[in-house]
Amino acid sequence: MTNRRADSNGRAGANDRPADPFKALGNETRLEILRTLYERMQGDEAPLSYSALRDRVGVADKGNFNYHLRQLDGRFLEDDGDGYRLTFAGFEIAKVIDVDAWRSHEACGPVVLEDGSERGTVCDSDGGDESLTAVYEDSVVKIRRGDETLSAHAVRPAGATDRGMAMDALLDVASTLWQHTIESILEGICPYCHATVERRLAIDESSAWVHSFRATCTTCGPLGGSHVAIAAVVHPAVISFCWERGVDVTTRPHWELPFVDDAAVTVASEEPTRLRVDVELEGDRLEVLLDETVSVVGTNRREKR
Ligand SMILES: [Zn+2]
Repeated sequence: MTNRRADSNGRAGANDRPADPFKALGNETRLEILRTLYERMQGDEAPLSYSALRDRVGVADKGNFNYHLRQLDGRFLEDDGDGYRLTFAGFEIAKVIDVDAWRSHEACGPVVLEDGSERGTVCDSDGGDESLTAVYEDSVVKIRRGDETLSAHAVRPAGATDRGMAMDALLDVASTLWQHTIESILEGICPYCHATVERRLAIDESSAWVHSFRATCTTCGPLGGSHVAIAAVVHPAVISFCWERGVDVTTRPHWELPFVDDAAVTVASEEPTRLRVDVELEGDRLEVLLDETVSVVGTNRREKR
């Protein structure tokens, strides 16, 4: 673990992974330094000289100020010769602090999106049912059928508050963010750290979705997963098939798409693994073949005429 040690100046090397980056931030003077440089970058982007920075942060004791500056230097800020500016990591941290990403807020919902009786399902005797509901809690919009969570996506508190905590607006935001996240994962890019993503098909009869996929980032670990049909929704053949029949799958929430359901999925082949998702609209059918990484490997239109 020698490569994680700080050098003789008390700074971690540029390529070292910090053991605890938040330790460097756990001080009001250092946070004020970050805030000051962040506000500067929001404006004219010019770096701030040492004396101007110390003056704005308001620390009279030079030795004390220098000490705090050193704790941030190289990782969260840098002196580029013309003065101090935030590094990319410093800017990201300051941005997250600025948007109050961790503030607590009210929950919202649950609201019923689709009555269970419309799907022909039978209510339990205790009143539980198979209704599709949405709830916003702990900064996450969750879509549930009965007690099972079918999908979940974070919406930051500032975004929720900005939209008046209205569930319709939260669902629109969650749906759009979900689409972007899925596209990123299917392109093999981790939406958090941008490292590569591996995807694997998972067939589990006891799960909320029997036919699903799991995505794992090679650097930051499990990213969650979704129903396999979601992997088909972003394919151009599916987008155009649905568009020609009046359905824009690029904006329609996935929980409103009838083929995002296990009833639309069949195992077409075991060796090699092929799943078939049937996208059916207006009596026409588009068959989409997925492999074990949920990549689309073939499509076939079966039209009624
Ligand atoms: Zn990652």
